[in-house]
Amino acid sequence: MLRVGVTGGIGSGKSTVSRRLAELGAHVIDADAVAREVVEPGEPTLDRIREHFGHDVVGADGALDRGALAALVFPDPEALAALDSITGPAIGERVAARRAQVPDGVVSVFDMPLLVERGLWVHEHLVVVVEADIETRVLRLVEQRGLDEQDARHRIAAQATDDQRRAVADVVLGNTGLPEALVAAVDELWTSRLAPWEDNLVAGRRSRRPDRAAVVAPRADWDARGARVVARIGAALARSGVATEVSHVGSTAVPGLSAKDVIDVQVGVRHQADADRDDVRAALRDAGYVLVERYTTDTPHPDGADQGDWCKRFWGGCDPGEIVHVHLREHGSAGWRFALLFRDWLSHEPSERDAYAAEKARLLAIDDRTAAYVEAKEPWFEGAWQRATDWAQRTGWRPL
Ligand code: ADP
Repeated sequence: MLRVGVTGGIGSGKSTVSRRLAELGAHVIDADAVAREVVEPGEPTLDRIREHFGHDVVGADGALDRGALAALVFPDPEALAALDSITGPAIGERVAARRAQVPDGVVSVFDMPLLVERGLWVHEHLVVVVEADIETRVLRLVEQRGLDEQDARHRIAAQATDDQRRAVADVVLGNTGLPEALVAAVDELWTSRLAPWEDNLVAGRRSRRPDRAAVVAPRADWDARGARVVARIGAALARSGVATEVSHVGSTAVPGLSAKDVIDVQVGVRHQADADRDDVRAALRDAGYVLVERYTTDTPHPDGADQGDWCKRFWGGCDPGEIVHVHLREHGSAGWRFALLFRDWLSHEPSERDAYAAEKARLLAIDDRTAAYVEAKEPWFEGAWQRATDWAQRTGWRPL
C-alpha cells in the first residue's frame, strides 16, 4: 500500500486535492477529522484531557468545550505541548489502525495540515504539498470559508512556512489558478506516478533504469532528494537498531557531476547478517523497496581483494517517478568505506570529478546499453580506487 501525505497551509487547496484523490480511488484519512473523533465523549483521550486541564474544559453535555480549552492552551506553549502529548499519540494510533485496514492495491492518503511541523512526513512514501501565495489564501478563507481576515492571517502565521514545506515536498502542486487546473494536476500525478507505483508495490516490482543509460547534467534537486531518502530509510530502520548511519552516496551525491538520474543511498549495518534479519527486510518492504537477490557483492578493489569484504544487500525503490537504490553494507567493510570515500574524493577533487564525467561520456558513446556501460566503467574504477585511497592517506580522510 502506497502512503501519500498531502499537506499545505490553510486555504492552499489541500482538501480539494484530497477530495480528488478519493474520487480517483484513494482511501483518504483526514487528520482533522481523526483529531475530532479522539476527543468525543466516551473516548479515553477526553478523560485524560479532563484529568490534566480540569473539569471546566468539558461542558455539561459531556463534550469537549473547545473554547475553554483553547483559552487555556493557546497563550501557554507548555500547556499546548501537554495537550499535543495527549492527543498526538491517540491520533497516530487511530491513523495507523485505519491504514492497516486499507487493502493492497489501494493508495492510502493522509491529509494532514501539520505533516511537516510534526516530522511525520518521513513515514509517507510521497509528500504532496499544495501551495498558493498568502494573499490568495487569505482571500479564499475570507470569501469562501467566512473567516475573519485577522483570524485567517493568524492561522497562516502559526503554521510552517512555504520554504519549510518545500524542503520535504516530493511534489509541489501550485494552486493559484482555476480549481480545474489543480484537479488536472492531481489526475496527471495519479496516472503517471501514484497508480503505477501502487501496482509496482503489489507486484513487488522495482522501478528500473532505462535500458539505454542516460547520463544527465547535475540536477539542482539531487541533494534534497537524497536527503529525503536518507531520512525515510533512517526512520524505517530506527526500530530495528541495525543502522549505524544512512548516507547519500554515488554520483548524484557529488556536486557538479553529471550522472544517471538515480539516488543511491548506503545504510551502514553493524553486522552484514543484520541486513538479512526478518524485521529489517519487513521494514524496507514497508518503506517501499524490493530486494534484488542477485546482487550480493560489489567488485572488490584492488583487483583480487577479499570478496567477503565487499558484500552487500541491494534494494530498489518502486517509484516510477524516481529511481532509488539502497545498498546495505557492513560498517567498516571495504565496500562501505569506498562508497563514502568515492563521494568525498570526487567532491574535493574537481579535476578527478571532471575526468570521471569525461570517461562516462566516452563510454556512453561506445555503447549506451546500461548493463554494458556499467561493466565498461569497471577498469576506470580500479585506477580510481588507487587514486582515491592515496588521496585519503594524503589528506587524513575519515569515513564519517
Ligand atoms: P485547505 O484544505 O488547504 O485549507 P481548501 O481545499 O479547503 O484548503 O481550499 C480553501 C478554499 O478555497 C475552499 O473554499 C476551496 O473551495 C477554495 N479553493 C480551492 N482551490 C481554489 C482555486 N484554485 N480557486 C478558487 N478557490 C479555490
